[in-house]
Amino acid sequence: PRRSSFFWSAPVKLEDHDATAAALVTRAAGIATNGIEGCIGNTPLIQIQSLSKATGRVILAKAEFLNGAGNSPKDRVALNMIVEAEKQGLLTPHQGDTIYEGTVGSTGISLATLARAKGYKAHICMPDDQAFEKSDLLIHLGATVERVPVAPITSPDHFVNLARRRAIEHTRSSSDGSKGFFANQFETESNWQAHVVSTGPEIYEQTDGDLDAFVAGAGTGGTISGVARYLKLEAKMDKVRVVLADPQGSGLYNKIKHGVMYSSTEKEGTRRRQQVDSMVEGIGINRLTNNFEVGRDLLDDAVKVTDEQACRMARWLVENDGIFVGSSSSVNCVAAVVAAMKLPPGSRVVTLLCDSGTRHLSKFWKHIKEMGLEDEGEPTDLFAELGIS
Ligand code: PMP
Repeated sequence: PRRSSFFWSAPVKLEDHDATAAALVTRAAGIATNGIEGCIGNTPLIQIQSLSKATGRVILAKAEFLNGAGNSPKDRVALNMIVEAEKQGLLTPHQGDTIYEGTVGSTGISLATLARAKGYKAHICMPDDQAFEKSDLLIHLGATVERVPVAPITSPDHFVNLARRRAIEHTRSSSDGSKGFFANQFETESNWQAHVVSTGPEIYEQTDGDLDAFVAGAGTGGTISGVARYLKLEAKMDKVRVVLADPQGSGLYNKIKHGVMYSSTEKEGTRRRQQVDSMVEGIGINRLTNNFEVGRDLLDDAVKVTDEQACRMARWLVENDGIFVGSSSSVNCVAAVVAAMKLPPGSRVVTLLCDSGTRHLSKFWKHIKEMGLEDEGEPTDLFAELGIS
């Protein structure tokens, strides 16, 4: 397996996984001889100074927006999904094959980028309530983009079902032998396994195995499940607490806390809303996906985060740390602080910074401006709310 010079030796030997796994963690220290995919993984772990000082705990955040292809953790997943599909003969480069995916954006951007590099076309179906930065970027990457009205997962026109249908239609009507491949990030094993073989081991190595909690939101659930499985099952860190960061309106918080799947903005027994009632993009969902289910039993706790808390945290991170992130990263940081305050002083908590604020200018950051937070000083209200004086 290729390794960059600053790469570590994982506690689980790479040979224990297949060649795909090894290929996933190849971020170049020098020349990325395999092109853009050599810029995926091995992201820095940033100690967030302001939050560490305020909490008396060590708050560490993995800078996943520095993944060098599509600038989010989805680079790891997209690469694994493509490599696995190639192995199974579902994709062949330079034959007109097209990757279809239903995504709120990040996975589509990673797939569209890697598709270009690896000789495929990309066709992305996404809900029309997501920030335009993402669909505009997809178009510049040469992907075909369908923005579709928000619909329940039971509808054939839900963005995920539409992507699946488009892939089937492609293969069925293909006159040149080209194939349509539905990547299926919500259900495929290639998603969570990418985090078992790269994100999880990186966190372990970067902290020398000294961490007390891992905190992350779930969109597909691949990240939290994959990292939880690596830390608890492979690295045998039984004591590490895995905590779900869930935005308002998502049903996962209640599933973890109360065993019941209903959204936090509705009462139990009322009709289940399919759409998460939050401005946060990328995390929060009202159904159980395979990727969430494979890690669910390993989750120890969940923290519900309001949109207002997410906005205030995003503003705080810029103001104090020069860290400019999107909404899911901000939710993660709020939940990391809450989780940290439940642990003794000095505890070490790891979370993720999923994407940059530049992908959220027209929605999340516009809202922050409209709230007047950009003119506000320290978020004393937020910290008081989170139990920090
Ligand atoms: N943050 C962002 C910005 C995302 O797009 C996603 C994926 N939808 C996530 C976090 C959550 O990752 P996962 O799908 O692995 O749960």
